[in-house]
Amino acid sequence: MTSTVHRTMGQQSGRRSWAEPWKIKMVEPIKMIDRAGREAAMREAGYNTFLLRSEDVYIDLLTDSGTSAMSDRQWAGLMLGDEAYAGSRNFYRLEAAVQQYYGYKYVVPTHQGRGAEHLISQALIKAGDTVPGNMYFTTTRLHQELAGGTFVDVIIDEAHDPHNEHPFKGNIDLDKLEALIKQVGADRIPYISLAGTVNMAGGQPVSMANVKALRELCDRFGIRIYLDATRMVENAFFIQEREVGYADKPVAAILKEFCSYTDGAWMSAKKDSLVNIGGWLAMNHDDLFEKARNLVVIYEGLHTYGGMAGRDMEALAIGIEESVQDDYIRARIGQVRYLGELLTDWGIPIVQPVGGHAIFLDAKEIYAHISQDRFPAQTLAAQLYLDSGIRAMERGVVSAGRDPKTGEHRYPKLELVRLTIPRRVYTQAHMDVVAEAVKAVYDERQRVKGLDMVYEPAYLRFFQARFEPIS
Ligand SMILES: *Cc1c(COP(=O)(O)O)cnc(C)c1O
Repeated sequence: MTSTVHRTMGQQSGRRSWAEPWKIKMVEPIKMIDRAGREAAMREAGYNTFLLRSEDVYIDLLTDSGTSAMSDRQWAGLMLGDEAYAGSRNFYRLEAAVQQYYGYKYVVPTHQGRGAEHLISQALIKAGDTVPGNMYFTTTRLHQELAGGTFVDVIIDEAHDPHNEHPFKGNIDLDKLEALIKQVGADRIPYISLAGTVNMAGGQPVSMANVKALRELCDRFGIRIYLDATRMVENAFFIQEREVGYADKPVAAILKEFCSYTDGAWMSAKKDSLVNIGGWLAMNHDDLFEKARNLVVIYEGLHTYGGMAGRDMEALAIGIEESVQDDYIRARIGQVRYLGELLTDWGIPIVQPVGGHAIFLDAKEIYAHISQDRFPAQTLAAQLYLDSGIRAMERGVVSAGRDPKTGEHRYPKLELVRLTIPRRVYTQAHMDVVAEAVKAVYDERQRVKGLDMVYEPAYLRFFQARFEPIS
């Protein structure tokens, strides 16, 4: 896909732009603190954008997780919270929404995505098992490892190349998977960990053809498929846009068809579903349901709230329905693409094609003079904040962590900075400001030398590690 194709979204004849299918009813003031203030804040945060105070941030692109603007209907839904400990009416609304739009039989609520990852990992993985998947995600892999499993990446090779314009870079390489199954044995593979879209590859989608073929392969070996459905609505939009036979199908129908090839899913509702907190685990098989429903009471709460308030479940049920509307999802991805096109036009290296929820700056290429053990992506995120108070996130060697066996850094092929776009929060003018800031940092790239890590926590180090600039 070229950027000209992107720009023609809704501009077939003459200039015809798309616009957001909503208007703004309430605003939250933001401001940019001055350069000296930003320098002090960055020092205090140990050059880790996770450790900044949000009030020191001007445009916050750290994550699209829990940062969405809820609709007036969702806010109204908060007033309908049934805060009963057991059997809240809002749970049954949520259960019905998951059944209707994702198509699974059973639903176990959790406080957020990692709560669901914990439950499925503990329920299904035994020590020594192998869990194949389409590129790792930080919390997903950690829960699989803590349960005694080993994650093995079976994504197609194109996913590791930021310049490869494959339309479905999230696809599983079925030959790699089959070879792995034959090597370790199907009985040592509790399930396939399939994510749509693939966050760490740049928000890249999985095709319908790929999940169908995966289903056939797994049926031959008797292996189940569980879906990380966190951004599966965005994935469905890409199928509608790019895959033959889906152009006229609604995103909601595509979502449901895709899920029908899997045995269940876990969800961070803080992403696609337009809420600030929430998650769930859903499945078709009785055995997993029984285990998960039992485990949830230990770790999250009773199986009719799983760590959420009744009002949160109501907002989530409404958010699910809003998230699958075609005009909404088109504007959501259109805004991400707008930012991507500006940067592409200005020659700034980003992961192509532009994915669903974020722009990924190629820090390896931008800071080609900084070696990976000096954390180019961490450095780039820090520079962006210093330039203009924009907060982004490292997705490179810091996020990849250390190999649990050797203790060495894992050096991922992709060394990226993620500019994650919250849903329904910022305007096109904010995107312009962001693009100009990235350009300014890019133009100054030769003056930067990288960072030293001076504090490293044991788990998920990217959240709390501290750094100092190399002088
Ligand atoms: C955010 C995320 C998770 C974890 O969910 P939380 O709600 O943050 O706990 C899992 N998988 C993917 C792909 C995610 O983006």
